[in-house]
Amino acid sequence: MAKQETPKIAYRFGDGVYLNITNRCPNLCTFCIKTKWKMDFHGNNLNLQGNEPSAGEVVAALEQELKKAPFKEVVFCGYGEPTMRLDVLLFVAQTLKGWMAQAKYPPFKVRLNTNGLGNLINHKNIVPDLRRVVDVVNVSLNAENETVWRRIVCPAPGYENGYDAVCEFIRLCADAGFDRVVASCVDKTGADAQAVKKVAQECGAEFYLRSFLDAED
Ligand code: SF4
Repeated sequence: MAKQETPKIAYRFGDGVYLNITNRCPNLCTFCIKTKWKMDFHGNNLNLQGNEPSAGEVVAALEQELKKAPFKEVVFCGYGEPTMRLDVLLFVAQTLKGWMAQAKYPPFKVRLNTNGLGNLINHKNIVPDLRRVVDVVNVSLNAENETVWRRIVCPAPGYENGYDAVCEFIRLCADAGFDRVVASCVDKTGADAQAVKKVAQECGAEFYLRSFLDAED
């Protein structure tokens, strides 16, 4: 069974190589598939069981994966919130930028998938550091206001007022000049997708409506 296998730090999905650097996250989203899919993602066991990889281990796993087949992007994703491990994220992304500069691989993008709480998590504005090493930022906005956001993402104590911080994070990213800043919403969660789109666009982001992933998919 895949979930019994060694946890994957780097794994493939579509044209991307995805990095699983932490399972920790201050949210417990109603749609999060890490619970429903028992930490498995399309046959990849992503359950780190508390053994978060060091930056060196992430780079080693990445090099192993990158040489197997072509790829168009490297994505900091999870199951977990990558900005919980900002130092590792920045080190690995900086390494990727170095490889880009050396043309070690054909051109690719570095993307961060995030819940947008990175500034709250790290108690500072992390956008300038991200801008130096990340090309594309995808932020899970998920709601048109704080009430809906709280109901959908179920934030941990200390993050209950995080909706404004997520919007501010999107605005800062949009102003920072990334290649793309995308704010997303998952359908079938009760959020008003059109209203979320309006918020996303007012914050300066593109909008993306993600489909709700059922266990049967
Ligand atoms: S922010 Fe992402 S990892 Fe965290 S609970 Fe929500 S969907 Fe899951």
